[in-house]
Amino acid sequence: MTAVSRYTAEFGFELRTCWWAEREWPPEETTESTVFVARQLGTGRRRWDTIVLECDPDALRQRATFGPDRLDGDLLHVVRNAPAEWTYYRDALPDPGYPWRYVRESIHRADDRGILETHKEGNRIQIRRKWPYPDWLERIVAIENKPDLDRSAARRLGTQLEYDVAIGLADEVWVATRTTGESVEPVLLEDLPVEAGVLAFDPETLETEVAWYPRTLAVEEPGTRILERPDGGSRDGSAARFEYVDPEWKAERRLAIAERAYERGWRSFADTMRPDCRHFQLREQDGQLLPYCGAKDHQPTARECSGDCPDYEPEPPAWRTKGWPIEGGPGKRFKKLLADRRRRRRPGLDSTSG
Ligand code: SF4
Repeated sequence: MTAVSRYTAEFGFELRTCWWAEREWPPEETTESTVFVARQLGTGRRRWDTIVLECDPDALRQRATFGPDRLDGDLLHVVRNAPAEWTYYRDALPDPGYPWRYVRESIHRADDRGILETHKEGNRIQIRRKWPYPDWLERIVAIENKPDLDRSAARRLGTQLEYDVAIGLADEVWVATRTTGESVEPVLLEDLPVEAGVLAFDPETLETEVAWYPRTLAVEEPGTRILERPDGGSRDGSAARFEYVDPEWKAERRLAIAERAYERGWRSFADTMRPDCRHFQLREQDGQLLPYCGAKDHQPTARECSGDCPDYEPEPPAWRTKGWPIEGGPGKRFKKLLADRRRRRRPGLDSTSG
C-alpha cells in the first residue's frame, strides 16, 4: 500500500493526526500547558474526530489522584462540592434537581472508588472530601479530519462547523486536510466558517502548515444550538430553528467531555476493533503503534475490523496459555501496550492504574 493510499481512509489519517497533536500541539507555537488527545467524543448531537485538551500541568497531576477512570456528572456533583469538614450530605451539596436517593448512590460510588470519605452518624450520611477537585482543563480544541477536502466535503463540513461555532463549546475548531503540495484552494475556505482553522497535514512525515488560523470561540458566553436549517433549495423559504444554551450547561458539558477524554484518550481504538483476531497486529511507524491486518495486508479501518469481518479468526487457544507475558494472549497484550502509552500522557497516574 502506498504512503498516500495508506492514509486516504479517514480512520488512518485521524490516528496520525492524534499522534502528531499529542507531540506537537499547538501548531507553529509553544505552550506551557500539558496536552493530551482523544478521539470521537462530543455531545449527543455532534461528535468530533480529534480533540486536544490543553491542561494546567499541576492541576492535571492533581486530577490523577481521582484515578484513571472518568468522573461522570453525578460523581462530579459530589466531589466538586464535598466539604473539607464532616457534613451531612444534604447540607453540603447543592440541590441536584433530581431525587436525593440518586445522590446517595453517587456518594457510595465515590466512596467505593476511594475518592470521598463517608461515615454515618445515626442514619445520617456524613461526607468529607479527600482532595479538592482541581481546575485542570484550560482549553478544548476540536479537529475534524478530512484527508480529501473537495468542494462537496467542504460544504458538508462547513455546516457542521457552523454548528460548533454557534454553540461555542470548544475553544477552537479546526479542519485537518492532507497536504497536496499545493495551497488549500481559496474556494474551499469559502465554504468553511471564517472562525475555523485549516491545517494542511502530511500524515507520512507529520509536517504541518497552517492554511488559516482559527478564532477563539466564546465558551463562557451563551451559545446558540442550531436545531434545523433550510436546505437551501430555491423554493425553501423556511427559517432556521435554534435555541440558546446557557454558559453553565456549556461548562458542565465541557468538563464531562474532558473527563471522558481523560479516560479514553485516542489509543482506545483497539477497544472497538478485534485485537483478539489472529490476524490483528500493531505495527510501529516512527514510534506510533498502528493497527495492521495480516489477512488483508493493510491497515484496516475500524469498520472493517469489527465483529462481522468475514476474515476474522479467533486467536488459537495455545496463544493464550504459553509464551505471552500477559494472561490472555496477544489481543490482551496489544490493549495493555496501548493503555500503558495512554497512561504515560496522564502525569501522576501510577503504573498499576488504568
Ligand atoms: S481479519 Fe478482519 S477482524 Fe481480523 S484483523 Fe483483519 S480486519 Fe480485523
